[in-house]
Amino acid sequence: MTTIKLHNTRTRTKEDFVPIDPENVRMYVCGPTVYDRAHLGNARPVVVFDVLYRLLRHVYGADHVTYVRNFTDVDDKINATALARKKAGAEGSLEQLVQERSDETIGWYLHDMGALGTLEPNEMPRATQYIDQMIAMIEDLIVKGHAYAAEGHVLFAVDSWKEGYGKLSGRSVDDMIAGARVEVAPYKKNPMDFVLWKPSTDELPGWDSPWGRGRPGWHIECSAMSYELLGESFDIHGGGNDLMFPHHENEIAQSCCAHPQGEFARVWLHNEMLQVEGKKMSKSLGNFFTVHDLLEQGVPGEVIRFVFLQTHYRKPMDWTEKKAREAEATLRKWRALTAGVEPAASAAPAVVVALSDDLNTAGAMTELYRLASDGDAEGLLASAQLLGLLLPEMGAWADTASVDLTAHADRLANARASAMQNKDFSEVDRLKAAYIAAGLEVRMSKEGVELVPGAGFDASKLEEVL
Ligand SMILES: [Zn+2]
Repeated sequence: MTTIKLHNTRTRTKEDFVPIDPENVRMYVCGPTVYDRAHLGNARPVVVFDVLYRLLRHVYGADHVTYVRNFTDVDDKINATALARKKAGAEGSLEQLVQERSDETIGWYLHDMGALGTLEPNEMPRATQYIDQMIAMIEDLIVKGHAYAAEGHVLFAVDSWKEGYGKLSGRSVDDMIAGARVEVAPYKKNPMDFVLWKPSTDELPGWDSPWGRGRPGWHIECSAMSYELLGESFDIHGGGNDLMFPHHENEIAQSCCAHPQGEFARVWLHNEMLQVEGKKMSKSLGNFFTVHDLLEQGVPGEVIRFVFLQTHYRKPMDWTEKKAREAEATLRKWRALTAGVEPAASAAPAVVVALSDDLNTAGAMTELYRLASDGDAEGLLASAQLLGLLLPEMGAWADTASVDLTAHADRLANARASAMQNKDFSEVDRLKAAYIAAGLEVRMSKEGVELVPGAGFDASKLEEVL
């Protein structure tokens, strides 16, 4: 069996991955807070852990991997949107409007991530469905002396677990206090203590609890849901490296103190962040966009995925328009090469070896280029599909094989010839506009007419031209 090596943030080394139970390899990835469209940076961990999920399924069998990714649907921004809609006259209770907003953004999220060729996890729990389990875990932490209630809040006492707190991110509690901008509150025993439960106002969703009507803190959600769905010890926990502290550190503290006999997650994987044209993506720099924005502009999801996979997950990824154009051109070539071809029985060994080396997707892509240049269409197809590329359901955008562009070019050339005679260019203009609308670049010269598919070419729009 293939040995997968993964860089474990906890030990800061690349280790052989040995699952607790090869019959059921378990992975938890922190999912989105569903208050709006996912931006391009949000998509990176989704693609990274989708590749890992596909690799685990390849090695251990599709039915022997359990992947859980949560939805955080307890959030001030969701509440704010619901409240604004209520004030604007929307029907329904505030709870219903909150639920509606979450449903709406979850729908967008699944659509946009699906467009990137990612598989849906086996379980996608919503925080609001696990409030009872969170309350039970918090009660347990209080009983065990790791948490305390104060002024309607419940806080985790970091001093109760000094030996473990900070290990993942590699800092001591004292260092953290010195360096961090922590919220100082009169009810906190130590400024690093973090919220497990907080009170809710009448205008906000809330749940009854032993500490009054309130709602859970963000960190306890992941601890409670991963325990319910994966148990007290599981194999892999993933997320962006912006979550390492405080979120993951706090998850570890909660889970290890509530279930001291368990290990929580054995291997921690963190992906690096995404940049755009060499700069941090931010609204103030004007380079902020969502996955939906790109799809709307005609950048196929497969192209986005291709660009992502060219960079190793532990390196910063730079999204550039140039990379997107090159990816699109390459994918068109590969799709043409593999049109009508059945994939080989399995991916090329070199591709599996690269992926098994701490998800070296860049190395795997180099192998795909090699297979393409060797003309090994079957091997290319099987290998690309292991990476979630060249999947049949993702190829509609590149479906040029079924369209005879030469016939369209001839038609435009004939229309031009007639127009020269009768001085009526309306048909030429009509055709040109239709081809441009379909995403074709129209090149007209003395030698003839050429139609070149550009970004966002949509063959289905050509049917209307005829
Ligand atoms: Zn989490």
